[in-house]
Amino acid sequence: MEIKALPTGGCGKCGRAAQSDNIVGTRCANPLPEGPCTGSYRATLAPADWIVCSCCNGSGSGSKQAQRCARCEGCGWSYARPQFP
Ligand SMILES: [Zn+2]
Ligand SMILES: [Zn+2]
Repeated sequence: MEIKALPTGGCGKCGRAAQSDNIVGTRCANPLPEGPCTGSYRATLAPADWIVCSCCNGSGSGSKQAQRCARCEGCGWSYARPQFP
């Protein structure tokens, strides 16, 4: 199983990962149970910032029904320290 490259940015509030060059500084707006996330993305290129998604083990693949992992949205990683606003 192949592990994906590190995301380019992560949301400081919910920990959502993003694989886009222009994502840093933009609103996350991840649909959470309590409403859209109000956090924003930061550049997080340090390997220590990320942990391999425990749901798909870094492959980004979902179950047989789903094409991509629902937890990490297919990026294979989850942000290790979502602490900044
Ligand atoms: Zn967020
Ligand atoms: Zn995953």
